[in-house]
Amino acid sequence: MILLAQLDSQLPTMLNYFPKEHTLKEKILLVTGAGDGIGRQAALKYSEYGATVILLGKTVSKLESVYDEIVKLGYPEPAIVPLDLKGATAKHYQDMGNTIIGQFGRLDGILHNASFTGHIGPFEQITEEDWQAVFQVNLHSQFLMTQALLPALKLAKSASVIFTSSDLGIKGKAFWGPYCISKFATQGMMEVLADEYENSTVRFNCINPGPCRTKMRAQHFPGEKPESVKPPAEIMTPYLYLMDEQASTQTGSTLNAQY
Ligand code: NAP
Repeated sequence: MILLAQLDSQLPTMLNYFPKEHTLKEKILLVTGAGDGIGRQAALKYSEYGATVILLGKTVSKLESVYDEIVKLGYPEPAIVPLDLKGATAKHYQDMGNTIIGQFGRLDGILHNASFTGHIGPFEQITEEDWQAVFQVNLHSQFLMTQALLPALKLAKSASVIFTSSDLGIKGKAFWGPYCISKFATQGMMEVLADEYENSTVRFNCINPGPCRTKMRAQHFPGEKPESVKPPAEIMTPYLYLMDEQASTQTGSTLNAQY
C-alpha cells in the first residue's frame, strides 16, 4: 500500500509549488515578447514577485505600457529593450549581453516567449521568405540570444532559461508548417542545452502554454469564443515556478501549463 505522504513526495515538484512572497527578489530576468499576451503577463508576474524585468519586444508603445503598469503597481522598475528579432544580428545580442553585465552584473533568467506563426497554408505553398522569417524570429534569434547571454547567465548563482513550445511542437499539424517545425526545433534546442549544461548552474526547460486567450490565438481561431480558453493570468504557475530557486534542480523538462 502506498501511503499518501509517499505519493505526495513522488509528485513532480510544480504540483507542490507554493511561491514565497518576493521569491524572485533581486533576480534580473529577460522576457521576450513582453509587450503582449503571455509575455506581458509573465513580465507582470515576475515583477510582482520582486524581479527586475528586462522587457524585450518589437512595439515600443506596448513595452512602455507594461513598464508604466509595473511602476504604477510599485514593483521594481523594469528596463526596456526595443528589438525586432527578425532583423537582429549576433552583434545586437552580444552588445545586449555586455550591457546587461555592465548594468546588472549578471542575468538570472530568460523567458524566450516571442514568436509568430507566419502564413498558415499547405506545405507546397510555403514561400522561402516566410519560412526564413518564422525561423529567424522563432528559432535563430533564440540560438543567437542564448549563446550571447550565456556569459551573463553563468555569472548568476543559479540561472533559468525557459523556452516556449506548443502542442504543435509535439505533434505535427497540417498547414502550420514553419511555425510547427520551429516549435519542434525549439524543443530540441532546449534538450541539447539541458544535456550540455547538466550539473551546471544554468537550467533549461520548456513550457507548453496550451490554448490561451491572446492576440495570436484570436487571429487563428476567429470563430472561437474568447472565454472558452484561459487568459494568460491563469497559466502563470510554471512560468513562476521555473524561475524560482525551488526549481533549481529542474532541467530538460517540458511543463504543460494546462494539462
Ligand atoms: P502574442 O499575443 O501574439 O504575443 C507575441 C509577442 O511576441 C508580442 O509581444 C510580439 O510583439 C512579440 N513578437 C512577435 N514577433 C516579434 C519580433 N519579430 N520581435 C520581437 N518581438 C516579437 O502571442 P502569445 O499567444 O502570447 O504567444 C506567446 C508564446 O506562446 C509564443 O511563443 C507562442 O508560440 C506560444 N503559444 C501560444 C499559444 C496560445 O494559444 N496563445 C499556444 C501555444 C503556444 P508585438 O506585439 O510588438 O508584435
